[in-house]
Amino acid sequence: MIHVARDQSIFSLSAEAAPVVRIRPGDALVLDTTDCFSDQVQSAEDAPDAVDWEHINPATGPVFIEGAEPGDVLAVLIERIAVGHRGVMAVSGDFGVLRDRFRGTSFEMIAIEGGSAQVAGARVPVRPMIGVIGVAPEGAPVPCGSPGSHGGNMDTRLIGEGATVYLPVFAPGALLAAGDLHAAMGDGEICGTGVEVAGSIQLRIDVRHDLSLANPVVETSEVVATIASAETLDEAADRATRDMADLLMQRLGLSAAEATMLMSAAGHLQVSQVVDPLKTARYALSKGILAQFGCDLI
Ligand code: CA
Ligand code: ZN
Repeated sequence: MIHVARDQSIFSLSAEAAPVVRIRPGDALVLDTTDCFSDQVQSAEDAPDAVDWEHINPATGPVFIEGAEPGDVLAVLIERIAVGHRGVMAVSGDFGVLRDRFRGTSFEMIAIEGGSAQVAGARVPVRPMIGVIGVAPEGAPVPCGSPGSHGGNMDTRLIGEGATVYLPVFAPGALLAAGDLHAAMGDGEICGTGVEVAGSIQLRIDVRHDLSLANPVVETSEVVATIASAETLDEAADRATRDMADLLMQRLGLSAAEATMLMSAAGHLQVSQVVDPLKTARYALSKGILAQFGCDLI
């Protein structure tokens, strides 16, 4: 088991970042992670000006994966996510869909116990997921708070235990990093935070030379979903839809008309998040439908 400590982290995904560890495909890897505020918020009384906002959204890594070359696809199986017993949420006049209703930023500590997070007097089921997971992007470094073709801050609820995230590789070794765990998060992440929490992520990574992707894909026990991020939700939705149609045509041999009809009849265009510098949408198709074609979509 290869273990990376939470202080081995970066704030931008970059081809220039020095790897903290080198692994081979198939190695078991555990990344310890702080929460998205670098664990700076320890009580609801912590004032927002006590938080160094230049040091938020850290990702543990980067990890160099032997044999991963530009043009390949990294298949990252999330074997396990462990989260702490205390999370944090924030409402703010500076971010979130309802920011016009708040002044400044205030924090709330969230108790996580017995499989639930206590939010506003309700028990919310704990479903741990990874907010930030990505590789070095093509070109200039991208802050870990932003999503893109390289992954990053996708804040996509489906990226949880048992899921596989497929990421296009742009730099030798891929340079994977991850962090920003959420004990729970709803689609949209409308206040700009999920139940932000420190924890650890157990991963097993494979390199696929037989696959080529423009944008990330996530596979769960139930669906395969293309993920796209763009300035507007409209653009992101359009891109995720096109990526799924392209996959259906390239990998399953469907015609454009067949892919379009199948998606319209059985697929789901969904919102991942609307609060990051770019918005993220996904297009999900059930594995029950995909299994009928007798070959793998991904
Ligand atoms: Ca996030
Ligand atoms: Zn987060």
